[in-house]
Amino acid sequence: MTHDTPALHDLTVAGLAAQLRDRKVSAVETAQHFLARARANASLGAFLDINDEVTLAQARLADVALAAGTASPLQALLGVPVAHKDIFVTRDFVSTAGSKMLAGYRSPFDATVVANLARQGVVTLGKLNCDEFAMGSANENSAFGNVKNPWDITRTPGGSSGGSAAAVAARLVPAATGTDTGGSIRQPASFCGITGIKPTYGRASRYGMVAFASSLDQAGPMARTAEDCALLLSAMCGPDPDRDSTSLDVPAENFGRSLNDSLEGLRIGVPGEFFGEGLASDVRSAVDAALKEYEKLGATLVPISLPRTELSIPVYYIIAPAEASSNLSRFDGVKFGHRAEKYVDLIDMYKKTRAEGFGDEVKRRIMIGAYVLSHGYYDAYYLQAQKIRRMIADDFQQAFKLCDVIAGPVAPTVAWKLGGHGNDPLADYLADIFTLPGSLAGLPGMSLSVGFGADRMPVGMQLIGNYLQEAKLLNVAHRFQQATDWHAAKPEGF
Ligand code: GLN
Repeated sequence: MTHDTPALHDLTVAGLAAQLRDRKVSAVETAQHFLARARANASLGAFLDINDEVTLAQARLADVALAAGTASPLQALLGVPVAHKDIFVTRDFVSTAGSKMLAGYRSPFDATVVANLARQGVVTLGKLNCDEFAMGSANENSAFGNVKNPWDITRTPGGSSGGSAAAVAARLVPAATGTDTGGSIRQPASFCGITGIKPTYGRASRYGMVAFASSLDQAGPMARTAEDCALLLSAMCGPDPDRDSTSLDVPAENFGRSLNDSLEGLRIGVPGEFFGEGLASDVRSAVDAALKEYEKLGATLVPISLPRTELSIPVYYIIAPAEASSNLSRFDGVKFGHRAEKYVDLIDMYKKTRAEGFGDEVKRRIMIGAYVLSHGYYDAYYLQAQKIRRMIADDFQQAFKLCDVIAGPVAPTVAWKLGGHGNDPLADYLADIFTLPGSLAGLPGMSLSVGFGADRMPVGMQLIGNYLQEAKLLNVAHRFQQATDWHAAKPEGF
């Protein structure tokens, strides 16, 4: 490569895929480059497992197909390295879900999302750190250490897909997978200045995604641009009727098909509730400026109301733990993962295994979940929460009568300092306020970087669309990225 060409790690997925197709660079060279970067930046804590042999073997296969020129247009990602959030199980890498419970665990199969990407010729670069069982907003709940934000290593990268966001922002990998139950793709994308999208619930198969809250969990891509997210998302999604009964019966789509559509006449709903007292002024200014940019691009801003925004916090923190307490009952020391060494009988083995294997936040949620589902409290908490969840979904449908997409902040503040919320889980929960409503409604949502706030920390803007409107969201984000260059900003030293 000459001096004028951008370094491999500065290329987008689309740019890198083109170079690979044109044989300007080989998949093996690319993989080696990124493996070296991942190693050199190990102190960020983003990667939990790397395996050169596996990665290079995949890269060699990609090179064979690239050299033969047999790549079909369906293999748009041939040779592009992607790393997976460690919540996806993988045959060739350790799969821990960020938990001591699964330390060293090897899955006998690949998650559907992982397999779908592999079929497109993606080269797996490794596994990425995350909050334990995806529970958290700061990546501080991982059993394997926290991840650092490349924009300021004293700050959180966000969570739970913190390793994915940090790795993409630091250019250790061109794109990564994440999962979003209550904001875990959007919020870390926002905190690390990248782009991420959570599709409509059911778009991507949950098979092989270690379950947290099954009615909310959804996979999605994290990359630097909306165009890259469209490429990845198109490869990840599709029905999986035999393995995930909640996967939608809608065919895989090319989500990038309308990236360049004009925004003339687009109605952007701006929910008053997202711009109240709790919103930090630096975040507000960046989001306001982005909304102005959209007006320049031809969109009109429409004030809307999502009246139950605040209620989404208690509703989510009842429903998600309820489902988690049920899902995590499978970790009993018998089927997989950790088992206590010393115990007197079966019950004692269960107890010690779970006491040793789970971290504090996971235990807290199992207890809350078991409580809200228990006889006598079920009606008061769980049932009420389900009713309000339905109302929140209805509120969005009212709003979508007035607008095509909804825009607002992703989080009330920029990334906070590691340890900044101390031992106060509520402080983390409250910071989820803007991502939870869309999650509870099962709507697609994304985050794109729209500027910087205090201490030059990135600010993300959230776009929420109606069901199956991912292509529209990506179009709206792409046009903004064509007109501005926030997405190209790079943390110093990377
Ligand atoms: N921060 C939220 C939680 O702790 C969301 C996590 C997620 O989306 N996985 O549950």
